[in-house]
Amino acid sequence: NLPRYWCGRPAPYSEQLKEGAPDEAKIRTRFPPEPNGYLHIGHAKSICLNFGLARDYGGYCHMRFDDTNPVKEDQEYVDGIMDSVRWLGFNWEHDKETNLYFASSYFEYMYRFAEHLITTGYAYVDEQTADEMRDNRGTLKEPGKNSPFRDRSVEENLRLFREMREGKHAEGSMVLRAKIDMASPNINLRDPAIYRIRFAEHHATGNAWCIYPMYTFAHPIEDSLENITHSICTLEFEDQRAFYDWALERIVPVLRTPQYEEARALIAKMAAGEDDRALSFAARALAAKEKLGQSEPECAMRRLFDAWGDKAPETLDDASMKEFFALLEAHPENFTPLMQAALDVVRKNFFLLSHQYEFNRLNLTYVVVSKRKLIQLVTEKYVDGWDDPRMPTIVGLRRRGFTPESLQSFADRCGVSKVSGGWIDYSVLEQCLREDLEARALRRMAVMKPLKLIIDNYPEGASEELLADNHPQKPELGQRKITFSRELWIEETDFAEVPPKGFRRLTIPTDGTPAKPVRLRAGYVIVPTSYEKDETGRVVAVHADYLPETKSGTEGSLSVKTKATIHWLDAKTAVPAEIRVYDRLFCEPNPEAGEGSFLDRLTPNSKVILSSYVEPAAAAAERDEKFQFERCGYFVADRKDHTAEKPVFNLAVGLKDTWRK
Ligand code: ATP
Ligand code: MG
Ligand code: MG
Repeated sequence: NLPRYWCGRPAPYSEQLKEGAPDEAKIRTRFPPEPNGYLHIGHAKSICLNFGLARDYGGYCHMRFDDTNPVKEDQEYVDGIMDSVRWLGFNWEHDKETNLYFASSYFEYMYRFAEHLITTGYAYVDEQTADEMRDNRGTLKEPGKNSPFRDRSVEENLRLFREMREGKHAEGSMVLRAKIDMASPNINLRDPAIYRIRFAEHHATGNAWCIYPMYTFAHPIEDSLENITHSICTLEFEDQRAFYDWALERIVPVLRTPQYEEARALIAKMAAGEDDRALSFAARALAAKEKLGQSEPECAMRRLFDAWGDKAPETLDDASMKEFFALLEAHPENFTPLMQAALDVVRKNFFLLSHQYEFNRLNLTYVVVSKRKLIQLVTEKYVDGWDDPRMPTIVGLRRRGFTPESLQSFADRCGVSKVSGGWIDYSVLEQCLREDLEARALRRMAVMKPLKLIIDNYPEGASEELLADNHPQKPELGQRKITFSRELWIEETDFAEVPPKGFRRLTIPTDGTPAKPVRLRAGYVIVPTSYEKDETGRVVAVHADYLPETKSGTEGSLSVKTKATIHWLDAKTAVPAEIRVYDRLFCEPNPEAGEGSFLDRLTPNSKVILSSYVEPAAAAAERDEKFQFERCGYFVADRKDHTAEKPVFNLAVGLKDTWRK
């Protein structure tokens, strides 16, 4: 009782053919995460590669949950993963097909293929202990030793395997192993385990199973059932390819031959006019062909064959039969080429083999991506959850202010190669975001660490509106209104009591020389006059005079030369905001290398919360909206916590790469 036709799903190509596409050469890839955590930046590379290939070559990428391991998998992760893939800009739902799959829905087939391997002498139940199995596996230099259970009879193997399924044996007491070659130079071919006992509840299949397939066995079956053409994985799996091919060679014929044989027989009968079903098949073939035009018999046949796959041919009525005979009489020359084409189609479709291709995994500095370690960071509260803006997870990067475009361009920039062990510097990722936001983030003003600036010659109680550009290089992005009055906020660091050499911003010289004018962005030129300190000696206010003729945007604005422009906010209208300034989570390029734990290399104080001010146009931002706060960096309105009343912004990336090395 094998699946009649691709597990009841539409046959490959059927959908394209309905649109009349003549070519079968469509690429089919898959992205197969295990739902045991959130996706990270490495996955983003794999997603961009798999979905990107399908998009660029007019094929499909399957969203497949590789949920064959009952423990650690969870619906929360399934939802989170789908959300991240969609957010990155990809989808698996197309007009004609929805390619969302769960490997756990193939358990029954996997089980049958395992039985098939047993009956054909290619699998056995092994009762060695885990230690014995490891000892007998041998080494790179030494061949392994055959298990004493290797030569059990087919009957005994079948009986034991069925008992395993029925729950009659304890966890760890036995496994099913492929019978290949204990002396193979490729250790993966030394009788790998393909099924093990696990009394665990599965997030999708509940307690229906107590045996579960190993990844290496499950994967080629999943690919084959879904007609994947390019099964792309990371380089560590290169040595597994031999087993992948070994399994497919033995399994695909079982998967496909019955249909193939059936189809051949049917076509033969049809040609001889002996079978009703055959006649109806041909009738539909011809009808389809008529619709598609004389020139595409093969296409017509394919379309027909696909349709026939999951419907009963008996459903054809007398009228179509009559039509068929009429058509055949009218065009007898069509019959033979049609049948020939049908056979070709059968051959091609049924013998499509999946192939595995390997590429380098992404290693990014200052980041860990191992799920075990990410889970540890979350559960032991080194970070505030999976979407903490310091996390290399897609949800974390998103909350940090990364855009799908920046991650896609990062994936492109990393490229795909066969060379393993390369590292990409974290600054490359940041640069991708910077470039994306530089081009489109609107400019706003925020004062991170506020210091009062009092314009003594500006009338008390007065105030005015000014216009500021949303993007200096893009006038088409317009302007917004800001206000100006007597009391302003400026950045603490823009005033220096004792200026370091080369300091060009606000300071009051002690040598009797006049103070230098400084421009307020989109406002006036000011000249500092004095400052106030509190009892601890901290500067708490700066006084200045403004030059009314220098208003930005007017002719007089250039009448006074300045060496510095600073940002500022009107204290009357500025909105208090929480600004979260994040540093890299780890302070070593490879947090996993060296003595001790990766946790020893966490950056101290990688999250700093500032009580800042932002202009009203920033406070009014939607969640997730990104801005350049002039001179400060790129910021995003926090996806969870930001509101217009209590604005919260995260530092996404600085304006320049200034990270201390
Ligand atoms: P872990 O081993 O940490 O549990 P995984 O790598 O096995 O994670 P999966 O969820 O199985 O994670 O991965 C899904 C897909 O993402 C796989 O096809 C894998 O090749 C790809 N992938 C995972 N990590 C990386 C990475 N660092 N670079 C590129 N691709 C990756
Ligand atoms: Mg995995
Ligand atoms: Mg991994």
